[in-house]
Amino acid sequence: MSTVLLSGKTLAKTIQQKAHDEAQDLATDGPRPTLAVVVATDDGSTHWYVRSIERAAEKAGINCRVVDLGQGASGRALAAVLKDLSADLSVNGIILQTPLPPGVQTDELVGHIAPEKDIDGANPLSLGRLAVGQPAFAPATARAVIEILDHFDIPLAGRNVVVIGRSAVVGKPLSLLLLERDAAVTICHSRSGPLEKYTKTADVVVVAAGRTGLLIGDHVSSAATVIDVGTNVLPDGSLVGDVDAASVRGVAAALTPVPGGVGSVTTSLLLLHTTEAARKQSRDLALEAAG
Ligand code: NAP
Repeated sequence: MSTVLLSGKTLAKTIQQKAHDEAQDLATDGPRPTLAVVVATDDGSTHWYVRSIERAAEKAGINCRVVDLGQGASGRALAAVLKDLSADLSVNGIILQTPLPPGVQTDELVGHIAPEKDIDGANPLSLGRLAVGQPAFAPATARAVIEILDHFDIPLAGRNVVVIGRSAVVGKPLSLLLLERDAAVTICHSRSGPLEKYTKTADVVVVAAGRTGLLIGDHVSSAATVIDVGTNVLPDGSLVGDVDAASVRGVAAALTPVPGGVGSVTTSLLLLHTTEAARKQSRDLALEAAG
């Protein structure tokens, strides 16, 4: 059986181009859209990721303002910055990058990101709105999974989809998006028991656990599409997902690679969300001005 590799690269480029076109259009009668990225860590891989967002934003014609408070930043200082950016009319989208300094609670801080600028769906209000079907930004990674499945024409309605991982940033919002698309969703986690009990009969398996080699070939059927969200850095510096790609290749129908799968689409979606936020904010301002 030959497993189709579902690369995210072409889709990422298409989304990046859409963000670019939108940014250009917005800039014809207003400012360029602006994304603010708040950082408070010395972690090298975080800085590498932030630089990759800066580069992608520049290509798309979107301003990227990195606010780096350093490893020693307090929760109070971070909250103040998020409140200022939320009130700043020149900023359209805000991301709070993790990890944060020890003792600083992410859950409390993300509540300071204005929902209309919460382009990575971090504020619990965004998750709540998604849960009840109201307009909100989904976390870019969760939306990236849906975009990949749509791009490759993989049906969701009435399909048996298993999501491994129940975090507020990936597993839970993704499950809500899948439900919205009429999939029959099962969510697995560290206490749900042997994975194969759920995954063996699944049409689609999404793995977002942060555990190298968690899903193996024996866990899936020949009809399964496997989406690997995991990003794990090995001691030699290489990046691998949560799927044991060597054993799943040759068994499943299709598999996303790591790198070059979900991650590449996620960054483009952050930019597209920024332009969507900018469009909505400029419409709201125009309506307000018109009284
Ligand atoms: P997280 O907050 O640590 O959540 C991990 C989830 O996996 C938890 O719900 C956990 O279950 C579950 N889990 C852990 N071990 C398991 C096991 N043996 N069997 C079944 N479930 C297990 O991680 P996250 O932030 O959701 O991220 C997940 C992965 O996605 C990470 O590798 C992360 O780097 C990657 N990621 C990638 C992107 C991208 O753009 N590609 C973006 C974000 C995250 P419990 O709830 O029971 O603990």
